[in-house]
Amino acid sequence: MNKNDALKRINEITEKIEKYNYSYYVLDNPDVDDYDYDMLMQELKALEAQFPELVQTSSPTQRVGGIALSSFEKVTHSVQMGSLADVFSFEQVQDFVSKCRTEVNSPEYVVEPKIDGLSVSLEYRNGVFTRGSTRGDGFVGEDVTENLKTIKSIPLKLRNAPEFIEVRGEVYMPRESFFSLIEQQELLDEQPFKNPRNAAAGSLRQKNSAVTAQRKLDIFVFNVQQIDGKELSSHKQSLEYLKQLGFRTIPTFLLCTRYDEIYDEINRIGRERNEFAYDIDGVVIKVNSFAHREALGATTKVPKWAVAYKFPPEEKETKLLDIEVNVGRTGAITPVAVFEQIILAGTAVSRAVLHNQDFIDEKDIRIGDTIVVRKAGEIIPEVLKSVNHQENSVPFLLPSVCPVCGTASVRYDDESVLRCPNSECPAQLLKNLVHFASKGAMNIDGLGPANMKLLTDKNLVHSAADLYTLSHDDLISLERFADKSADNLIKAIANSKNNQLDRLVFGLGIRNIGQRAAVLLCEKFHSMDALLSAEKSDIASIDGFGDVMAENFCNAMKEPHRIALIEKLRSLGVNMNYSVKSSGDNRFAGLTFVLTGTLPTLKRDEAKAIIESFGGKVSSSVSKKTSFVVAGEDAGSKLLKAQELGITVISEEEFLKMNE
Ligand code: NAD
Repeated sequence: MNKNDALKRINEITEKIEKYNYSYYVLDNPDVDDYDYDMLMQELKALEAQFPELVQTSSPTQRVGGIALSSFEKVTHSVQMGSLADVFSFEQVQDFVSKCRTEVNSPEYVVEPKIDGLSVSLEYRNGVFTRGSTRGDGFVGEDVTENLKTIKSIPLKLRNAPEFIEVRGEVYMPRESFFSLIEQQELLDEQPFKNPRNAAAGSLRQKNSAVTAQRKLDIFVFNVQQIDGKELSSHKQSLEYLKQLGFRTIPTFLLCTRYDEIYDEINRIGRERNEFAYDIDGVVIKVNSFAHREALGATTKVPKWAVAYKFPPEEKETKLLDIEVNVGRTGAITPVAVFEQIILAGTAVSRAVLHNQDFIDEKDIRIGDTIVVRKAGEIIPEVLKSVNHQENSVPFLLPSVCPVCGTASVRYDDESVLRCPNSECPAQLLKNLVHFASKGAMNIDGLGPANMKLLTDKNLVHSAADLYTLSHDDLISLERFADKSADNLIKAIANSKNNQLDRLVFGLGIRNIGQRAAVLLCEKFHSMDALLSAEKSDIASIDGFGDVMAENFCNAMKEPHRIALIEKLRSLGVNMNYSVKSSGDNRFAGLTFVLTGTLPTLKRDEAKAIIESFGGKVSSSVSKKTSFVVAGEDAGSKLLKAQELGITVISEEEFLKMNE
């Protein structure tokens, strides 16, 4: 390639990488997967190596990581939080090992899994956690102390602490938490995070710590950045010391002296990585001795004493059997590829979301094609490309009408998805009703998808309001109900009339209004009437709400069918007010309650709300610190433990007496 062509390509790649960096680091919503990004970066590095005179100071190769968001206080790192040099082959690992060996005498190496999360610094003065920040661009990060405090494994106080210590760790989202988060986001028709790494970054950089707390993040600490009052001479020693101080350190590390040991350990981690409860995207190989590290030195961006070996993504070919078209709760019409089952990254997969018509057109995906499927971010399978079409195949077009109700589908200006605009569409109706009755919303026990489907199939329920006019006789006529279960459901529906307003607001299923947003709305407006007449600017002033979200909510509250539903619910006795949670009466201050078994009348969160409104705490496990155990029917091990420890056990009746 001549210099002119190289410059052209460098500019092209730079522009792409800048765009990808913005989506990844600022929006936490990557445009491409990490492997493609890494390959583009490798191409840029190779061109810059060939034409060093073309390296610009603003080149992405000269930068570390992300950008510190202006919405957080900035933190200047006194010890730079560098990145790691990437390698993609065993030859490159071997080169690294040999290079270290020629520069320092008999180096030892530590091999660790590379956790796929985001890097943070934690500072402790006299053992107390004083500040936590993101890596940002390596020099300046964001102060996310309050959000980090919600991560239970970050000690707020250290045991036998030195005067000052700054450590570095990787915050990540365990796979299980990630799956439940995206399930919830899909249910609410929110854009789901693409992988646990982006979910962790998005969750840590929330303005509202309560949201971070719900996201169940965790951390592995892997380095001492600086320390006063203690000498450390190797990585292994510092990991052991960090453990003693009370940190959750990197889960495994192996001390090696030879390349073949490193090779075996990389392969072992690679084989076992799908069994970990979190994502790892590679293996880090570091020189162990700090004296050796010093001798090896660093570039402006990365240390020369460590490399990150990145695992290649797993891809497989399969046959596309069908494209299903699903209709979501808010009418989103989503194409889903159904293919012959394959095993990818240790799990069986046979379906992948095809997003929208543009995605299908761009890749020219047709039924019957041989397609390549890859697990992006090791988690969500995605169709990478079509490798060949079958004879006589035709381009796939999403239906111009909703596949469930036949209403003409629409594409709103700001969206790439097609939607069914019919709010009465049975696909939407059923999903909306299930959402309305779900645990987080009106919490009506016994109204899961199967029973709800039965009620709609039998034409007993056409809207959430119809639930409140169901009779015992209506239910008993259905095959799934007997006398007792019909009674229980009628009671559960009646009880839900007394829910706090936030449950109803969430239950209305308005786009972007999750549980937390519903609470924030109710805390500001206190009643449905106030919410119905709220101004957009008042809503936008709520922390965490932007103009778009406020506008969507205002518009949704003006839709005639929603107003009609709310008025119907009101006339049927559903509570339309929000009473401030704290009662001002702190009779339970300092007391810890444990709830166990099924209470005769109260639901768990109702009992919890009462305890908290009187200043008490609810814990999920019994210990010597427990003040009371409130036990209902079928109480199990917690009751036994309470009896063993001599903790006072009370019934719901006794508990309610304490509140009078
Ligand atoms: P990196 O993720 O490749 O490696 C450095 C990071 O590894 C460190 O910051 C550290 O926090 C972390 N780490 C995890 N476990 C560790 C351990 N045991 N020891 C030491 N460090 C450990 O580099 P980066 O600068 O954080 O991010 C760049 C990468 O991010 C790219 O290579 C790419 O894969 C991804 N990226 C993707 C996109 C996209 O659009 N898909 C965009 C930007 C960046």
